Amino acid sequence: MRRLLLTAVLLLPALLLPAAPAFAWSALGHRLVGELAQRHLHPAAQAQVAALLAGEPAPTLAGVAMWADHLRDNDPPRFKATSRWHYVGTQGSCQFEPARDCPDGACVIGAIETQRRVLADRSQPLAARRDALKFLVHFVGDVHQPMHANHQPDKGGNDFQVSLRTDLQPEPYARKHYVDGVMGTNLHSVWDFYILGSAGFGTNGAALQPYADRLDAQPWPPLTTPLSAPVAWAGESCRLVDARGLYPPGHKLDRAYLDAMRPLAEQRVRQGAYRLAALLNETLGR
Ligand SMILES: [Zn+2]
Repeated sequence: MRRLLLTAVLLLPALLLPAAPAFAWSALGHRLVGELAQRHLHPAAQAQVAALLAGEPAPTLAGVAMWADHLRDNDPPRFKATSRWHYVGTQGSCQFEPARDCPDGACVIGAIETQRRVLADRSQPLAARRDALKFLVHFVGDVHQPMHANHQPDKGGNDFQVSLRTDLQPEPYARKHYVDGVMGTNLHSVWDFYILGSAGFGTNGAALQPYADRLDAQPWPPLTTPLSAPVAWAGESCRLVDARGLYPPGHKLDRAYLDAMRPLAEQRVRQGAYRLAALLNETLGR
């Protein structure tokens, strides 16, 4: 009983979390994918990207990387219509079954394929191709976040509550769940925000260039799947969840978990960036 009570107290902040699930790598993760991809575009693709994004407040891949998430506040009907495009749940195993897991193409795999076709089609209106580019930057990031292609029945870790001891300031909307150095959150958010956020670069815009420089100084990760196969990228994410012990045995985490998982999170950011660059070079570089 005492133990139960203690557990209840430890998890209390987590239980008070709002129901709204997290939808992506945090801004830092998505912008890193965009920034690293931009550095590896061929000149022809670079010029096409610049033309498509002309007029955007921040006309770079990093600058538009969070647009798909910001629709939540800026265009709620459109966000609602596209919210299933950020993830895929394969139910019970990592075997993807399109009819079950992606009806009408409404999952991250289908969205990448559809938006890529729109981007490649020069008969489409400029605005449609621009939005397709902005969606692609975001979704190629999402599909590499292991919790976004996860077969566990917990909404991609959103329902797996944890208490995380950390000195990293939570994002503003979550600060009320941060008490005495312990954050009540869930495993999805740990992967979205805390692992990359605690790398030592900070979490605001100033972190982007130095963190990207460090990731870019390493060789690109080996590619074991065809570049144009988002179904394979999702399968990798799903299998990583099983193989690498992403689910902690208890619900209490601290810096040791963040440090142990950071190399994997950084590898997924770099793989996402490499594949995004390759996809854009192939689609726009002609
Ligand atoms: Zn997302």
